[in-house]
Order: sequence, then structure tokens, then C-alpha cells
Amino acid sequence: MPPSAIIVLGSVNTDLVIRSPRIPAPGETVLGGEYFQAPGGKGANQAVAAARAARDPVTFIAAVGDDEFGRGALDNFSRENLVSQYITTVPNQPSGVALIFVDEQGENAISVASGANLHLTPQHVDALPENLFAAAGVFLCCLESPVETVVRGLQRARAAGLITILNPAPALSEIATPEILKLVDVLTPNAGEAALLTGMQGVEEAAQQLRNLGCGCVITTLGPDGCQITGEANVRIPSRKVTAVDTTAAGDAFNGALAVAVSEGLALEQAAHWATVAAAMAVTRSGAQPSLASRKEIEAAFS
Ligand code: ATP
Repeated sequence: MPPSAIIVLGSVNTDLVIRSPRIPAPGETVLGGEYFQAPGGKGANQAVAAARAARDPVTFIAAVGDDEFGRGALDNFSRENLVSQYITTVPNQPSGVALIFVDEQGENAISVASGANLHLTPQHVDALPENLFAAAGVFLCCLESPVETVVRGLQRARAAGLITILNPAPALSEIATPEILKLVDVLTPNAGEAALLTGMQGVEEAAQQLRNLGCGCVITTLGPDGCQITGEANVRIPSRKVTAVDTTAAGDAFNGALAVAVSEGLALEQAAHWATVAAAMAVTRSGAQPSLASRKEIEAAFS
């Protein structure tokens, strides 16, 4: 297998979804639901998004439990362009699970039991071989894994000269410190996450504050309004106009494709354009991982 240009560190969940007439209130039982199960977790979604958009295999660092969901996730990864040899199977811990209720309006309520994801430790990152980092160009991570593990990953990536991308989702205010943000080349919050991290509502103002704390550049994703790059230059990139069917994992599609474009040497503005195309494709299809676009599809739509 050729070496990976991209390393993704993150979470693996199985989404257990019930679509029902309404989301149950506390103490209520709602009948008439429809159930399906789907692979999820922000880390896995981002790794799969990158793997489909990349030419070469993408390395994914994660943890699953020694159970049916964990084995199902590994089986799923084996069908993608992913190197999964550094995914740890944690004994005596359940795999991550998200229980998702979706109502007829598409509104949802989600409860996550992170399980094995919380057992991906800094020691796992320390044990990764030096040549894995030496051969790579980009490190992508999010915040569904323990912060200390994410930080160790960023430190190793930075020490090896990789470009680091942190998608601060979910928004944890403890990462908004110079010690952590100085390890980040590109921070990719959505508007709500940027506001939560800084206490500032304005997109520009929040991004500037995050840059002042030490990250190189901020790309704030703005849903159907595209994204805003705040760095040496400030650029607004509009979204592609599409009919949205399901926006689940739009941000993950964006981050995975961004990592690929950056690893191939595209300037940030061009890379964000490429990511915008990939994210727009994901919103035209249902589900998280099933909606993620292939390189061929992104290339055909990118012009
Ligand atoms: P999610 O949590 O659903 O994964 P997010 O909140 O992290 O998403 P968003 O800002 O909603 O991220 O979306 C990420 C990117 O996806 C946007 O910058 C945009 O390029 C694209 N996108 C999202 N919604 C739409 C839409 N309705 N039409 C076209 N593009 C969209």
C-alpha cells in the first residue's frame, strides 16, 4: 500500500436512528417509528470523506469496542480506501453509539454514548510509528475523542511538519487556549462553534479572536451560505446551489475533502472551493457516510 498523505484521528459511532411522528417528550412513548442503523461518528465520517476524495489510502486512528458494532465498523472501513491497522479494539468497552430521534420535520435529538472512543489515549498516539507521520502531509482531527489525545496527535503532527486541521466539533471551550490553538494551522468551526469558543457572535470577530489565540487560519462553515476564510486574506466562498435533502455530515464532508485538497498542495482558497463542492454533494443525498462523494464526482463538479 502507498503511504498515506493524510492521517485522520477521531471517533467511530454506530448511529441507531428512529424516524417517528415526533421526538418523544420525557416519559413519553411514541409509536409508529421506522428504524435504521448507519455507520457514523465525526472522525469516521471525516476519514471516509477523505478516503473517497483522495487518490491514496487515508490512515484512520480511532478506537472501537470488542463487540458487534466495532466489528461492523471495521468491516465497513475495509471497503473504503482506508488504512485501519492503527484502530484499537478496546476490551470490555462498548463501541460508540448515537441514539438519534428524527421527527417528520427533520428535527433531531441525539444522545451519544462514546464508549471505546474515550479510551483512545495519548499513549496510543505515542505508539504510532515515526514513518507514518514522516510520510504524511496533513493531520485532521475533531473533538469527539479525548482532548488530551487530540492534542498529542496535533503535537506529533506538528513535530513532523504536517499541516494540521482541527474541526472543533463539538465545541469544547477548553481548546480555546494558545497552548492548543498554536498547534493548529487551519481551524474549521461552524458559526455556532466559533461563537461558543469565543463568546462572540460575529463570524469575522470570532475568527479573528481564534487567530489571536494562535491558530494559523480559520475557515468558518456557514451551511448554505458557504464558508468564510479568515487568515492572511479574508475570503467568502459561496456554497454550491443544490437542493438539500439531508445536511447530516456536511461539515464532515467539507473537512475530509479540505484535507485532501490541502495535502495535494492546493492553496487554501482553492482547497475550500473543492471542499465546498464535496459538501454540497453530501447534502443532496441521505445519511452520513452513504452521502459522501467520490473523487470522480467531486472532480466532475469542480471547475
Ligand atoms: P454538520 O454538523 O451537518 O456536519 P456543520 O454544521 O459542521 O455540518 P455546515 O456549516 O452546516 O457544517 O456545512 C458545512 C459546509 O457544507 C458548508 O460550508 C457548505 O459548503 C456545505 N453546505 C451545508 N449546507 C448546505 C446547503 N444547504 N447547500 C449547499 N451547501 C451546503
